[in-house]
Amino acid sequence: MTTAYRICPLCEAACGLELKVDTTGRKVIAIRGDEADPFSHGYLCPKGVSLKELHDDPDRLRTPLVKRNGRFVEATWDEAFAEIERGLGGLQARHGKDAVGLSLGNPIVHKLGLSLYGSRLLKALGTKNVFSASTLDQMPKQLSSGLMFGHWLSIAVPDIERTGYLLMLGANPMASNGSLWTVPDFRGKAKALQARGGKLVVVDPRRTETAAIADRHLAIRPGADVFLLLGMVHTLFDEGLLRLRHLASHAAGVDTLQAAVQPYAPEAMAARCGIDAATIRTLARELAAAERGVVYGRIGTCTQPYGTLCSWLVDVLNVLTGQLDAPGGAMFPKAPAFAANTLGQAGSGRGIITGRHRSRVSGAPEVFGEIPMGCLAEEIETPGEGQLRALITIASNPVLSAPNGARLSAALDRLEFMVSFDIYLNETTRHADVILPGLSAFEEPHYDTAFSQLAYRNQARFNPAVLPAPEGQVPEWQALLKLAAIVNGQGAGADVIALDEAALEQEVRRQAGEHADAVLKALQHWPQGPQRWLDLALRSGPYGDRFGLKPEGLSLQKLKDAPHGIDLGALQPRIPEVLRTPSGRIELAPPMLLQDLQRVRADLASPAPELVIIGRRQVRSNNSWLHNLPLLAKGPFRCTALIHPADAQRLGLSQGGRARIARGDRSIEAEVEVSDEMMPGVLSLPHGWGHDLQGTRMGVAAERPGSNLNALLDEQWRDPLSGNAVLSGVPVRVDPA
Ligand code: SF4
Repeated sequence: MTTAYRICPLCEAACGLELKVDTTGRKVIAIRGDEADPFSHGYLCPKGVSLKELHDDPDRLRTPLVKRNGRFVEATWDEAFAEIERGLGGLQARHGKDAVGLSLGNPIVHKLGLSLYGSRLLKALGTKNVFSASTLDQMPKQLSSGLMFGHWLSIAVPDIERTGYLLMLGANPMASNGSLWTVPDFRGKAKALQARGGKLVVVDPRRTETAAIADRHLAIRPGADVFLLLGMVHTLFDEGLLRLRHLASHAAGVDTLQAAVQPYAPEAMAARCGIDAATIRTLARELAAAERGVVYGRIGTCTQPYGTLCSWLVDVLNVLTGQLDAPGGAMFPKAPAFAANTLGQAGSGRGIITGRHRSRVSGAPEVFGEIPMGCLAEEIETPGEGQLRALITIASNPVLSAPNGARLSAALDRLEFMVSFDIYLNETTRHADVILPGLSAFEEPHYDTAFSQLAYRNQARFNPAVLPAPEGQVPEWQALLKLAAIVNGQGAGADVIALDEAALEQEVRRQAGEHADAVLKALQHWPQGPQRWLDLALRSGPYGDRFGLKPEGLSLQKLKDAPHGIDLGALQPRIPEVLRTPSGRIELAPPMLLQDLQRVRADLASPAPELVIIGRRQVRSNNSWLHNLPLLAKGPFRCTALIHPADAQRLGLSQGGRARIARGDRSIEAEVEVSDEMMPGVLSLPHGWGHDLQGTRMGVAAERPGSNLNALLDEQWRDPLSGNAVLSGVPVRVDPA
């Protein structure tokens, strides 16, 4: 038996795992948390253990599938690529670049090959029709961060190990271990916060697992966080609580902001958000008074009509109280590789712009190069120039994860061609003409390109492959390059490895100039593909060894020699270096956001609907395919409709009974769970269920399919700035089924 180490790829917490591999070197026999991992210190959740089941799952695809006469049959990789070439080759030449779209799922960022080479496919396609999971739950935070700090991924995260006050909205890290915040063992860190006299305050319509351990829980009307946050910002100005401290010379727009929030006194906000004015003022005073404090908002603040405004106001509060970029506050991680905010000129940049193009049918503005996922169906359905005729999905299951999957499902059937890159035949990939299987997490090397940019502590970890890849399996990076070669006319027979080497050489010559030959020679130490790019990024990155100029610096070899990873220390202040705004300052009052306040004013007097629905995060779930793993599927049925006892009584619902939940002419049924953890007037159903559609191959998930919350939601309802879907606070009707 041997021991290997692997960062868990199942959620954003990126825990380090210790794997026991049998003597054949071909089977993982045990998984536990890696005690020596300097970042996660042995923590793991039930999902981490299930990684073995995922690898062994007989439903997991290992061979390409090609649809023949309406049925999937196994095919060789060559046959699959030939089929793709028949379907995609020349399609853009005939109908234009936008005729082929791309739908990207969040597992991409957990895989080195997909995360590094997805952009190559994107570039080859040159399409405006790019859709991703970002417009389902996180684009508001990316947009507000881009507007304020100059880059989409300059996202400040709580420095939880040093804070004394953590105010959290719409987040449940007891279940998630962070989102846009990589923080394994949140429970342990929250306990430590409280043990040193700190305070955790949670604002959420449900008494979540996080709210249950908090010092204070405040129930808020779903979708009304913007009113609370505006009331808090108003209080800071109104009561003279501003203390920008070290940020004073770096923040622009304070006066403009003060004028903009003038109409939003807590007394005018209280009824709309359901939190009284005195409490709103208290929250603002507590944050301002905290020696080390921070506000953090997540999914619940993004999946609502004011997602971008909420995300902005969270950081406005952190800036105005001097809690941004200070120990114990909201801080910017410094990733060892692939972070745009460590590249180029430090301290200023081009900033971001949105709306460089608009979606063809709804006219939704592009944000970070993407069109809202809610536009995908209409772009397929609507004839005319630029109509979407073919789609490539990568680890993406929008039929379940996006609003109104039924419409999208029907639209996918109208495509001329669809190719999916996925490990399951699921609700979305069943529509494909060809499915290419990905590798198991054990079968490929790994480095987290994304989560090092969001981590509570700076670190670097690299894992070589734990098990050999199956004979003949095309690695993911090569498969993506094959797709790119097909769409750009080079054909499936293109030597993509040689093309990649040429691209690497070009990049090295751009970066290293006269030293390029020496750098290229050094990179040849690694297998062709992602590891060469990774070594280049690490060694030329902010901690890098500069190919020998700084011998104490990082390289891929150093990471390989440190199998548990390397701790790079607590987060450090980075302003102004991290900024990439044109002004070189933190933009507190971006005009786009101030203008959007008009919507808030118009909505101030909206009455509370009788009943609204929200989602909920669960420890044993994340992506929909986790429902196919027996270890996670067993135990009490979890796709229940949580409802407050008073609402249950009023509506004639009983524990364990069935409820029909309806919106417009669509309805679903779900098992009722009566609980006072819900605030009255709010119903909660977890997200990503509904595995009862025909034509999938996920046997365990189909045994207890659950109900699809998204089936009720409106794909046209979104935050107009970020294009993010509105998934929370949607009015519904509920009756006994
Ligand atoms: S919290 Fe669980 S699923 Fe997430 S990375 Fe850690 S072990 Fe994996």
